[in-house]
Amino acid sequence: MTKQVEKAVEMLKNQGVRMTPQRHAILAFLLETMTHPTADEIYKALEGKFPNMSVATIYNNLRVFKDAGLVRELTYGDASSRFDANVEEEHYHIICSDCGSIHDFHFPYLGKVEEEASNQAGFKVCGHRMEVYGVCTDCQKKAAH
Ligand code: ZN
Ligand code: MN
Repeated sequence: MTKQVEKAVEMLKNQGVRMTPQRHAILAFLLETMTHPTADEIYKALEGKFPNMSVATIYNNLRVFKDAGLVRELTYGDASSRFDANVEEEHYHIICSDCGSIHDFHFPYLGKVEEEASNQAGFKVCGHRMEVYGVCTDCQKKAAH
């Protein structure tokens, strides 16, 4: 069990959330995968290990983790939500326009953009979203073959 999973389990325990083998597996998978999986992808990755698990179980657990502040839900248009377990580090996302995978990248927070938007439009700003699009390394390799 990695330190990060251990910490998350502890945090859930402190909030009175009971740990089950399935819940633990979903949590560990989320914390270890870096590509921001959908509920379906989590299901496919774990169904071999837990044949009795349903997609609804995944969704229920994702809601529990979200309420506990352990994951962030990412919505992009019509595509199903993806889940990000990296909530501690401030970061932006780059999205593959072929396979839809989402990767983290680091860049100083664009506070100036918020300030400028606020100045120009007179809004009280509460946040912003910035995404970069392209073709991921896996899809580049596939295209080259
Ligand atoms: Zn891709
Ligand atoms: Mn992320």
